Amino acid sequence: MTIQTGVVLKDHCSYRTGGAAEFYAAVQTNGDLAMALDFAAKKKLEITVLGGGYNVLISDKGVKGLVIDTTGLNCHMVINGVEVYAGAGVSIDELAAEVCKRGLGGMEDMSGIPGCVGGAVKMNAGAFSTEIKDIAVYVDMMDFDGRVYRVSNAEAGFGYRKADGLHGIVLGAMFGLKKADAEELKNKRAEILVKRTEKQPLHLPSCGSVFKRPEGNYAGTLIEKCGLKGYRIGGAQVAEKHANFILNTGEATADDIYRLIKHVQDTVEKQTGVRLEKEVRFIGFED
Ligand SMILES: Cc1cc2nc3c(=O)[nH]c(=O)nc-3n(C[C@H](O)[C@H](O)[C@H](O)COP(=O)(O)OP(=O)(O)OC[C@H]3O[C@@H](n4cnc5c(N)ncnc54)[C@H](O)[C@@H]3O)c2cc1C
Repeated sequence: MTIQTGVVLKDHCSYRTGGAAEFYAAVQTNGDLAMALDFAAKKKLEITVLGGGYNVLISDKGVKGLVIDTTGLNCHMVINGVEVYAGAGVSIDELAAEVCKRGLGGMEDMSGIPGCVGGAVKMNAGAFSTEIKDIAVYVDMMDFDGRVYRVSNAEAGFGYRKADGLHGIVLGAMFGLKKADAEELKNKRAEILVKRTEKQPLHLPSCGSVFKRPEGNYAGTLIEKCGLKGYRIGGAQVAEKHANFILNTGEATADDIYRLIKHVQDTVEKQTGVRLEKEVRFIGFED
């Protein structure tokens, strides 16, 4: 593992925007991670953890300190009966595909969610009627001082697209699934993948849903009601197909996307009284 400088982060996130990391480490093992953390501690660097980059907006100015890329971290899964352990770097969709194939139910709703286990756990990702919190048994973590520890589901502080009890870097997680019919799971997975392509604008870079679902409503419905479908700032555009998606139409800067997110929040608040809370994580911005 080498610590690199000036790695351009637009190549490491789904929005395809963002400047360079001051320092960058792509870690594959807990040992690599400990070394990267030690490097950051010695240089007193801020640490940013990155998974697949599917739920982040990275500033055009780049990121100060050390960016730790965990997409290659502990990329293995171990299946033992109905218990499935997956390392942080395992693709959540590949994991869902594998367990469905083996007749293990509980993850089929996660089919098609892009990103890795580490990011999914930290975000308490979910779709349809399942979130990570419904299937996680425990999470293995390394804190920023390099100490490895295990957190039970109850201690993880899972909430709507958050896991406030997880401090540091997710190393892997144990999931508790249940025996089910492999053929039925295969069909359910296929159905879900079709629904996702029908409902979501997947032809252009995005971060998925930009805003969380407000109490008793849908962010997309409110945005549409305010006439913002198709609204553009620079190369960033509110998707016509799904108003809670903001797309990079090709030449968007992170600043275009950032300003459009703020514009949508302000307009929706002014017109409906609801302040939308963002789901996407900003990296390298003031707010
Ligand atoms: C087209 C599209 C559709 C989407 N659909 C859904 C959906 O249906 N449901 C849903 O929940 N999300 C969805 N998302 C958002 C995204 O896929 C999920 O949030 C996913 O779990 C992010 O994983 P990631 O590995 O890309 O994490 P990243 O985006 O890299 O990171 C997300 C957050 O997790 C942290 N993080 C990442 N890895 C680790 C780690 N190893 N340890 C500690 N912290 C870490 C980061 O610091 C950041 O705060 C969608 C995104 C896109 C682009």
